[in-house]
Amino acid sequence: MTLSAVTNGYCLDSFLDLLTEYPFESIQITLDGVKEDNDRRRVYTGGGGSFEKILENICLAVARGVSVSVRINTGPSNLERVHLLKKLFEDRGLTEAPEFSYYFAPTQGEDHCSSNTGLKSREIVDNLMRNGFEEKEAMEHTSHYVSCMSAIRHLIESPERFRPSDSHCGAEKMMYLIDPEGWIYTCWDFVAMEDQRVGRVDLEKEKFAFNFSLLRWNNRNVLNMPKCMKCPYVFACRGGCAAGSYRETGNIADPYCGEFREIFRDAAVMVCREEFAGRGERELTKSLKDRLRSIRSLFPSSRGTDEARVI
Ligand code: SF4
Repeated sequence: MTLSAVTNGYCLDSFLDLLTEYPFESIQITLDGVKEDNDRRRVYTGGGGSFEKILENICLAVARGVSVSVRINTGPSNLERVHLLKKLFEDRGLTEAPEFSYYFAPTQGEDHCSSNTGLKSREIVDNLMRNGFEEKEAMEHTSHYVSCMSAIRHLIESPERFRPSDSHCGAEKMMYLIDPEGWIYTCWDFVAMEDQRVGRVDLEKEKFAFNFSLLRWNNRNVLNMPKCMKCPYVFACRGGCAAGSYRETGNIADPYCGEFREIFRDAAVMVCREEFAGRGERELTKSLKDRLRSIRSLFPSSRGTDEARVI
């Protein structure tokens, strides 16, 4: 079994031996921007900011060969400064290490809980470009673009391994979060919301005791979303983020389009431009013909149906 962890990174120095003793594939550590922003938002009970300690711990983990992905929460209040982190990472020698990567992730409801006062991913890309990033580099360091570009690259490079999924993320497929009191949730965005608990850890019986709310998550897939079943983006978007639909309509069962279509179009143009510039071809459909045929062959029984036309 391989492991991965998401952590605030503050006490990571106490766990370094654990990270190298067990097969950790990666750890994700979050920063809330440059020191000034991070330390304003993430203050410890005894006072003082966490930025320097977290950065030191990131360096320690990378030096031990642990793969570290730094997520930088990016919202209206820190957008103008987040690009400065690139220089800081370079100065600390992190960007030269193959184990190190970082990306900017848009936050929602940053200042007003449950209302959407966040940013669009495209705003982050544009801001990075205004501050010295190339467009491709900016996209490759912005969440949603990264995943979209890697999915399209994967499809071009290994179409035989194309396997569509019917759901958007692990929250719908057995990802569990357990709070300090043992309550179980499926998604980060719902932790501490009593009506969103899906069960509790039963320490006596040493098992998870789930309630019926879990079914709402397990049943969230595009087959139950008529709008998605007619959408050409369905295999890439897969119904969108449940937390997004909850914010928008109050119901996780609804589709959440968000900015997926715009991101996909930008990402597809960037990846295909790169791909075909490398091949020196002028006619894209020739190269794609065999790939599309092999994808189509994965759905022999659906030929002629809506799904086949979508493909
Ligand atoms: S873009 Fe909207 S309609 Fe299309 S698959 Fe995503 S959530 Fe469904």
